[in-house]
Amino acid sequence: MTAVIEVYCKKCNENFTLITKGKNREQIEEILQKQNGFECTAGNHVELDNPMNYWVLGKIIDKEVPSDLEKLQDLKNSYSEVYTTSELQEKYKVSGFSFGTCICENKSNGKKAYFDFTRIGNDRFYYKLSEVG
Ligand SMILES: [Zn+2]
Repeated sequence: MTAVIEVYCKKCNENFTLITKGKNREQIEEILQKQNGFECTAGNHVELDNPMNYWVLGKIIDKEVPSDLEKLQDLKNSYSEVYTTSELQEKYKVSGFSFGTCICENKSNGKKAYFDFTRIGNDRFYYKLSEVG
């Protein structure tokens, strides 16, 4: 079991939890208030101010949290293509970023593809949203 804090996002109207890493509610609030930008993983929106303008903190509870390996497996079950940064660069040429989405060109067929990304543990994983052309 892991201690997590319940969070409600006023912008995307979603509930989720954050791992407390041994911090109490006040300490978490203080850390969040110092951030100058974040991606709300619940609704995938990127904001340039601090999360406390969007998030309402709830109770700290104990919860069964999936391991990094389980999270990666979930991601692979949900999307056809999942890559680390170096794997992505082997298959795709990154042409830019737009609203938190990575725009790529498939090196083998020239098709344009859109990837979103998430952090699991210390690694960033890209997962394919769609392909055009
Ligand atoms: Zn949100």
